[in-house]
Amino acid sequence: MTEVLPSYIAGSWQTGQGEGTTVADAVTGDPVVRVTSDGLDLAAAVDHARSVGGPALRGLDFATRAGMVKALALALSERKQELYDLSARAGSTRADSKVDVDGGFGTALVYSSMGRKGLPAGNVVVEGPVEQLGKEGTFVGQHVLTSRRGLALQINAYNFPVWGMLEKLAPALLAGVPTIAKPATQTSYVAEHAVRIILEAGVLPEGALQLVSGAIPGMLDLLHGQDLVGFTGSAQTAAKLRGHPAVTERSVRFTAEADSLNCSVLGPDAVSGTPEFDLYVGGLVAEMTSKAGQKCTAIRRAFVPRGVIDEVTEAVSAKLAEVVVGAPGAEGVTMGALVGTDQRADVRRSVEALQADSRLAFGDPTKVDVVGADPEKGAFLGPLLLRAEVDARTPHEVEAFGPVSTLMPYDDRAQLVDLVARGHGSLAGSVVTHDPDFARGVVLDTAALHGRILVLDRDDAAESTGHGIPMPQLVHGGPGRAGGGEEEGGLRAVYHHMQRTAIQAGPAMLESILQVADDEK
Ligand code: NAP
Repeated sequence: MTEVLPSYIAGSWQTGQGEGTTVADAVTGDPVVRVTSDGLDLAAAVDHARSVGGPALRGLDFATRAGMVKALALALSERKQELYDLSARAGSTRADSKVDVDGGFGTALVYSSMGRKGLPAGNVVVEGPVEQLGKEGTFVGQHVLTSRRGLALQINAYNFPVWGMLEKLAPALLAGVPTIAKPATQTSYVAEHAVRIILEAGVLPEGALQLVSGAIPGMLDLLHGQDLVGFTGSAQTAAKLRGHPAVTERSVRFTAEADSLNCSVLGPDAVSGTPEFDLYVGGLVAEMTSKAGQKCTAIRRAFVPRGVIDEVTEAVSAKLAEVVVGAPGAEGVTMGALVGTDQRADVRRSVEALQADSRLAFGDPTKVDVVGADPEKGAFLGPLLLRAEVDARTPHEVEAFGPVSTLMPYDDRAQLVDLVARGHGSLAGSVVTHDPDFARGVVLDTAALHGRILVLDRDDAAESTGHGIPMPQLVHGGPGRAGGGEEEGGLRAVYHHMQRTAIQAGPAMLESILQVADDEK
């Protein structure tokens, strides 16, 4: 019988009871693991984080915590091949795994470096200047940030089992807050192995990181006002969790990163033959095919000037025709599988919904040529390009979480801004243009609708990280539909796990309190 995936709770690896959910290999359809948390003592995990992990982390200074984050990143880096191999079972090619696995430990390394360079000695952040509050200067105020005395429950989506976990774990560790990671069932075996590597490296104090494989019924009931929930996943689950009494009544700090209908805009200057035209086409194809389009930041809506839409369609279709779908690692394969056949069915349903007012310009949702695997047993789907008119509704409402994007024309900048706004808030947008006036107009008019905007042209392309890659130094998150959160964003992500307190006192007293805090590092 297929083995049950363990959880790491209160200092030991434990397995849940019962049948659970059997997770199938995305490529072969064979069972990989069973996932169940039935019978696990989730309350013990919460207690352990509070009574063991929290005090241990709070007793360390920022520099030591930054060292731990670096050490766990290096441990993962040394054993990355193991994670690549498991990720292949979830449908990821080597290039996809680099985004998740290398992107994960790379993010942790950046956090470690930001922590070393940007956080003070000791474990208290003194923020801003001393504010004089009385005429004589005998009464002053000062903001400080200290570690919250709770835990961070981190609920992750299936598409980034390693990166998604590490981008939440690293700032929590730096802030001195213990983590309970809850990966999505579908790829929990990849996340479990990453946690195992970290724990085997022995670089974290006990209780700093626990893992629940499977559901977490009742766990939010145990959370209180010093705790945090960081959620990544669908808008529906985000809404459910946001409405939980832990959040609405006990003020658990809650952040959501949800789905989003990200857009990319081609500037009117970027006609065929310009470097920007090619960058746009290449960027769109990369976003459609990287991780088989299962990226929260992928381009779902592609806006181009009406006059070039046929040329863009042709150029994108020509590149998509070169994509080889198949088993990760098989000869010539450039795009792997979706995470499972349920997900493929879901994407097909979404494409059908999109076709209410869009038409397929490239690809066939019902069949695909596959190299090195059975197209039906594995969760394969070829890339699908749709085209819609300016009055179409569904491209601004339906997220097909796969290799799917919709091309739409625009006639002028005002109409373009209106079209962008119909997505109701996105994680990432891009504008591909070499015209500073156009870039300025679009960026400033749509900045409030985005967490991040890339302006791409011939001058920054060589070093650009691309439309879909969040950087830990910068905001990852977005308004409205994107969840309203800011998950990454430099040291702000660390401060998010800390409490800001205004201390009011006499200047000498304040100095002595802060001095003591400094000495206690
Ligand atoms: P999902 O079904 O909402 O699941 C997300 C996570 O929530 C999983 O770990 C899931 O666990 C857990 N969950 C579900 N119900 C829960 C509950 N009642 N209480 C506590 N946890 C619960 O989303 P998904 O299908 O995994 O992810 C795909 C979506 O995520 C896409 O829409 C994508 O756009 C979005 N996404 C966003 C970002 C971002 O950064 N904004 C990144 C990646 C993906 P189980 O798997 O065990 O049910």
